[in-house]
Amino acid sequence: MQKIVLMGECMLELRQAKDGLMNQSFAGDTFNTAVYMKRIFAQQDIAFMTDVGQDTISQQMVEACSAEHLNNQHISAKSDSNPGIYLVQTDEQGERSFLYWRDSSAAKQVMQYVDQTAIEALCKTDLFFFSGISIAILEPQDRIAFWSMIGQLKEAGVKIGFDPNYRPRLWNGPDEAKAEFAKAYSASDILLPGVDDFKQLYNIETLEDILAFCTPFDIKELVLKNGPESVYCQLDGQLTHVAITPVSQVVDTTSAGDSFNGVYLGARLSGLNVTSSIELAAASAAIVIQHPGAIAP
Ligand code: ADP
Repeated sequence: MQKIVLMGECMLELRQAKDGLMNQSFAGDTFNTAVYMKRIFAQQDIAFMTDVGQDTISQQMVEACSAEHLNNQHISAKSDSNPGIYLVQTDEQGERSFLYWRDSSAAKQVMQYVDQTAIEALCKTDLFFFSGISIAILEPQDRIAFWSMIGQLKEAGVKIGFDPNYRPRLWNGPDEAKAEFAKAYSASDILLPGVDDFKQLYNIETLEDILAFCTPFDIKELVLKNGPESVYCQLDGQLTHVAITPVSQVVDTTSAGDSFNGVYLGARLSGLNVTSSIELAAASAAIVIQHPGAIAP
């Protein structure tokens, strides 16, 4: 059994239903990744790491993790803050828009509750995964603690996985994101970006340019997603290409990349090769995008 920890923010997702009511669920990129990984690879020990508060929504969030059979050992429930919330609205043309209330969410404080004992427990895991959103929500002083923790995990031999998931509004400008991402690329054993991340942040989008950009970071395994287009993986310098069969009835692409990441990482840790792992991950993402919301039934 492998042990995987995924760190980040889970939020209360409110979704307008046709009858004027609100559907309530829980979602957030690394949480979604953890859920889909555990659903397919039930034998692995998968933990979601975050901080929650003392309120009933926080309790329900922890219960949602338990309901998905995630290990809650790395969830601190010490904050006085509440979870973040986002509201998904769909207009008459089917266009979705998102409103967020997350500036003071408990998850932002996660590093304040990570002591040396917690780091020692993390050092015994096989893979630690985080995203650009996981770093963006941290206060500057907590980022120092975060990178120190990542350094200790690497020294202990824990593999590091990262998806940039660039969200401009969470950063104080692109330069801040670039500086933090450079640290994440340097630390990464497995990098799972989307072409969009590179297009938005560095204005590059061809495979050649992205591979050239990543070369100095010496990343062992780079998996490049591009929506319904091909997935490429460069493992130890060897390039693999897998074609994607586009889904004709896309309902909601939320969580496509997250579910892909979860299933890909679970597959690789379970010993599958790159091609089989991409095929399984793409098949899972294709199911997810045919359902509304981040977490499919
Ligand atoms: P992200 O959410 O990180 O931007 P992508 O949009 O690149 O992720 O999608 C991740 C994966 O989801 C793709 O590699 C592909 O396997 C699957 N996917 C996304 N959109 C489609 C689609 N229209 N048809 C089939 N598969 C899709």
